[in-house]
Amino acid sequence: MSAFLPFARPDIDEQTIAAVGEVLRSGWITSGPQVQRFEEALSVYCDGRPVRAFTSATAALEVALEVAGIGPGDEVIVPAMTFVASANVVLRVGARPVLVDVDIDTRNTDAARIEAALTPRTRAIMPVHFAGLPVDMAPVYALAQRRGLRVIEDAAHTMGASYGGRRIGAQGDLVSFSFHPNKNLTTIEGGALTFANAAEVEHAERLRFHGIRKLPGGEMEVEEPGGKFNMPDVCAAIGLAQLARLEEFNARRRELARRYFERLQGIPHLRLPAADQPGHSWHLFAPLIDFAALGTTRRAFMEMMQARGIGVGVHYPAMHLFAAYRRLGYKPGDFPNAETIGARTLTLPLFTRMRDADVDRVCGALREAILQPITTNGHS
Ligand SMILES: *Cc1c(COP(=O)(O)O)cnc(C)c1O
Repeated sequence: MSAFLPFARPDIDEQTIAAVGEVLRSGWITSGPQVQRFEEALSVYCDGRPVRAFTSATAALEVALEVAGIGPGDEVIVPAMTFVASANVVLRVGARPVLVDVDIDTRNTDAARIEAALTPRTRAIMPVHFAGLPVDMAPVYALAQRRGLRVIEDAAHTMGASYGGRRIGAQGDLVSFSFHPNKNLTTIEGGALTFANAAEVEHAERLRFHGIRKLPGGEMEVEEPGGKFNMPDVCAAIGLAQLARLEEFNARRRELARRYFERLQGIPHLRLPAADQPGHSWHLFAPLIDFAALGTTRRAFMEMMQARGIGVGVHYPAMHLFAAYRRLGYKPGDFPNAETIGARTLTLPLFTRMRDADVDRVCGALREAILQPITTNGHS
């Protein structure tokens, strides 16, 4: 029996571990020279746009909203199919997340769905590039420009992705990345924000660190309460080593995704995600499985996979059905595609150190788990 295969696993090489050791021995372990180097490297990655590092993408998104001046009385458009952090931060700055549905196969929202949800109170749009597939952004930015709206891209899944031949993060308005261990690039925990407007960078720096503004002569001033979201140097050292390997990481992810597509054709009650395309960063590979039609539940199905040594995940339950969002008035039936995805999605293992044979093992187990309940019907 082969070892247990998790659905995600960070790829940390010995050089990275040595780099962390150096930082730990250096005497300076919180934000310092490594963070500065990491931000410079990320800025190069983003075609020279300014980038600032944070303790998480959640922090980066919250600061992005504050930098854009969004607060009580404002509305922000957020897809109903995303990790709950995307909308939580809108609530945390006192604004209202206005949810919209997504496409069943791309899991992404689009300009038409966003436009239908605009009100006079809408101040910003938060597209989420789901699973690594960029949202079709040209119509979204055209709409934002027409209506005078900010765009805050939740690019947590799209480190290494591109749209229209340019990297996500190298274009657009405010763009936030996540470096959580399951993401394509990790710093343990961490995130980053890239800016179109360099004049907003200093404000973001203050919001990242207690609201402190350093004055000439060593004095300081605090005009508003900032958070405490500065990335430690230990994390930045990991990020620098990871960034150097990002292309390699994502090339491997793409190979594995392609193998999944090849091996998962023609399985009943299994619906593959939108096909590969240039610029996809393959953060997740998650088909939809009609568990009800198979006479089972996702929980039982997941246990079956786990019993075969395969870890699977759920990304994500439909967000509007969480208590905190039902309280805003959302209910079952509001976003049918998000609900179908939420009920049927199953994230399969996808990480750089997987072997081709691991994909085959997952596909074999999946085929068995889907076909066996059917073929054994009436034979037992
Ligand atoms: C992971 C994730 C986040 C939050 O990232 P953290 O770095 O863990 O705060 C936000 N949005 C989406 C879509 C994510 O997947």
